[in-house]
Amino acid sequence: MTQRRTTWQKTAVFEALSQDQVFVSAQELHQKLLLAGQKLGLTTVYRALTDLVEAGQADVLAGEDNEMLYRVCSNEHHHHLICRKCGTAVEFDLDGFESEVSALAIKHGYKDVAHSIELFGICEKCGMSA
Ligand SMILES: [Zn+2]
Ligand SMILES: [Zn+2]
Ligand SMILES: [Zn+2]
Repeated sequence: MTQRRTTWQKTAVFEALSQDQVFVSAQELHQKLLLAGQKLGLTTVYRALTDLVEAGQADVLAGEDNEMLYRVCSNEHHHHLICRKCGTAVEFDLDGFESEVSALAIKHGYKDVAHSIELFGICEKCGMSA
């Protein structure tokens, strides 16, 4: 039986993740926490991130090298434009596309359809320093 409760570890992970609008891997976040003097194991960081995703407090997506990346996002449905160098992400939506997708799903008799679209590129800042 695992009891759901907010531990200080989870709070620390959430706070570290909320600091910037960047997608980070569990390893990167773990490093950041250690540098900030938070003694957390990598497993604990993973578990906290999984909990945050399940609670809808963080977004997760697979990066281009299939590593899972995490970020604190808005609650609205959105997609991401992600810098493959620094992880900075912009949220966007595709108005026409959203309704076309639901129409397509209904046409084929599908329910509970979800989609995810992530765009990867090089942000302006990284492009200038290259
Ligand atoms: Zn998001
Ligand atoms: Zn960048
Ligand atoms: Zn969408």
